[in-house]
Amino acid sequence: MSFLGADAEFERRLHRHILSEAQRLMPIPTAMLGLGTLIVYFWDYLIDPQGAEITLYVRLFSASILAICAFAINQFKSVRELEPLVWFIPLSSAIGTLLTLYLLDDGFQWGAGGYSLSFVLVALFAVRIKPVLIVNLVMLLLTGVVLFYKGVSLLVLENSLFFCVVGVVVSCAVAFQLESIYRRAFRLQERLEMESRTDSLTGILNRRALCEEATRRLEESERLGLPISVLALDLDHFKRINDRYGHPIGDDILKNFVTLVKPALRPYDLLGRMGGEEFMVVLPQTVLEEARGVAERIRQTVEDQLRSSLNSEARCTVSIGVAEHWEAEASVDDLFKAADDALYDAKSGGRNRVSVND
Ligand code: GH3
Ligand code: MG
Ligand code: MG
Repeated sequence: MSFLGADAEFERRLHRHILSEAQRLMPIPTAMLGLGTLIVYFWDYLIDPQGAEITLYVRLFSASILAICAFAINQFKSVRELEPLVWFIPLSSAIGTLLTLYLLDDGFQWGAGGYSLSFVLVALFAVRIKPVLIVNLVMLLLTGVVLFYKGVSLLVLENSLFFCVVGVVVSCAVAFQLESIYRRAFRLQERLEMESRTDSLTGILNRRALCEEATRRLEESERLGLPISVLALDLDHFKRINDRYGHPIGDDILKNFVTLVKPALRPYDLLGRMGGEEFMVVLPQTVLEEARGVAERIRQTVEDQLRSSLNSEARCTVSIGVAEHWEAEASVDDLFKAADDALYDAKSGGRNRVSVND
C-alpha cells in the first residue's frame, strides 16, 4: 500500500470513529438544544410579545425536530447513515432561530449576538473542519438572504453580519481544535491496539491476537463448510543457540525465522508467536494433505536458509505438527492441542521433521 493510500485509509477510519463517537455523545446535547430552544421563547416574549405568538410555533416545531433527532441517533445501525444528522441538527436549529429573528420586531437588533452561537454549535456536532465550514457558509448565505428580505437598517445589517462572521471564525477554530484532538487520540488508540496485538520482537500476531483471529477464521470456515488446518512450529534445540551464541543471536534467529516463513503463506493465512520459540500458523481453506505440504516447504526452507545475520554459524531447524479441524465442536484450543500433539511426535521422532495428527 502506498503512503498516500495508507493515509487515505486512516482518514476513512478516523471519519468512522468520529461518527461513532458522535452517535454515543450526541443524544443528550441534541435534547438539551431542543430544551434550550423552548426556554429561549421567553426572550421572544420579552422583546416582542405580539411576534412571540407566532414564534411559539416555530420554537415548538424546532424543538420537536431536535427531540426526534435525539431519539433517532441511537436507532442507526450503520454510522455512515448517521452522517447527514451531524450537520442537519445544528442547521435545523439555526434555521429555527433565524426564522424567529425574522418574525420578531427588532429580532436581529437584539438577537444577532445570540444567533452567532448557532455557528459555533455546528463545530460541536459536525466536528471536522470541512463540513463545518460548508454548513457555516450555507448559514451565512441564508442569514444574508433573510436580512435582505426583512429590510433591516444598515446598522443592524452590519451588526448582524459582523456577529455571524465572528461566529464562523470561532466555529472553524473550535472545529480545527476538535478535529486535531480526535486525530491525535485516535492515532494513539490505534497504535495501542496494534501494539497490544503484536509480538514486539518479530512484528507478527502475539498469542492473544492469534487466538482471537483463529477463532474468527474457524467460525467462518464452519459457517461456509470449508476446511481449516493448523501448524504448530517449534525451533529445535533453541536453548543451545542461546547458550552457545548468546541471547541477541537467538533473537536474531527468531526474527529471521519469521522472515522465512511469511513468504510461504497466503495473505489470508495467520502467523503468530505463541511464546518463546513456538509459533502457530492457521491455514483457512486447507485440508490436512495441503497443510502437510506447506509445513514440509517451511521445514525445508528453514533447514536450508535459517541462520543468524550476525553470525552465520548459528543455524537452526524447526519441527512442525499439523492438524486439521475435524468436527464442529472442536474449538481453537482443541485444534492447537491437536497440532501440538503432532509436534510432540515430530520432536520425539528426531526433530527437523513434520508430523501429522490424523
Ligand atoms: P526443543 O528442540 O525440545 O524444542 O528444545 P529447545 O531448547 O528449543 O526447547 P526449550 O523449551 O528447552 O528451550 C526454549 C528456549 O527458548 C529457552 C529460552 O531461553 C529460549 N527463548 C525463549 N524466548 C526467547 C526469546 O525471546 N529470545 C531468545 N533469544 N530466546 C528465547
Ligand atoms: Mg524448541
Ligand atoms: Mg518450545
